[in-house]
Amino acid sequence: MSEDFVVAIDGPAGAGKSTVARRVAERLEGFRYLDTGAMYRAVTAYLLRIDKGNASEEEMGRAAEGLSLEGERLLVHGMDVTGDIRSAAVTADVSRVSAVPRVRRAVQGKQRAVRGRLVAEGRDIGSVVFPQAAVKVYLDAALDERARRRHKQVPEFSADEYKGQLERRDRLDSTREDSPLVKAEDALLIDTTNLTIEQVVGRVEALVRERLRRGGRSAAE
Ligand code: C5P
Repeated sequence: MSEDFVVAIDGPAGAGKSTVARRVAERLEGFRYLDTGAMYRAVTAYLLRIDKGNASEEEMGRAAEGLSLEGERLLVHGMDVTGDIRSAAVTADVSRVSAVPRVRRAVQGKQRAVRGRLVAEGRDIGSVVFPQAAVKVYLDAALDERARRRHKQVPEFSADEYKGQLERRDRLDSTREDSPLVKAEDALLIDTTNLTIEQVVGRVEALVRERLRRGGRSAAE
């Protein structure tokens, strides 16, 4: 198996993390893409499916402990919830579920168990989950631009509606006590507001290739 090498991509919702992380992983030899937000979404989708929209923290924790990844599929206590994770109901509720410490412990443990060459994207990857990541990037973009992109991708809501949703989710994610959304000190900040996806992918890919050439796996020199 190849040696562990983690590329951590963090940032607020709609900054382009998923697209960038997926493409960077595709272009590099032997890298796997890990969507950590999908894991919190799966726990939330499961709770909604079993009508536990108002679950206690203990019930939320137990749900998270039952999460498993099977290839591209996400299961919670054996229930496949993959098809539900992008629903508006899940998006509206996920930040409440992901703020619960017992949920975070369970989900972060499953993320750390993934070994090898990884491009992992989320909120706390460079700061908490993989603080030794070889490459750390923090993607950001102006709120208006992020809302515009969301609307273009999925016209279900207007750009203004997306703006309100993104703002609320970012606020919850960055003000929670347990592993909030934050730029790791040693992460490279890329403001994607005026960049194309291709430009961002190119920059991150170049960073990773340079790091691979130099060898080593620690972000700290
Ligand atoms: O990235 P995505 O929008 O799918 O993430 C959904 C939610 O999952 C975030 O709003 C956040 O509440 C939670 N999350 C998290 N930590 C991560 C990734 C996602 O708390 N590493």
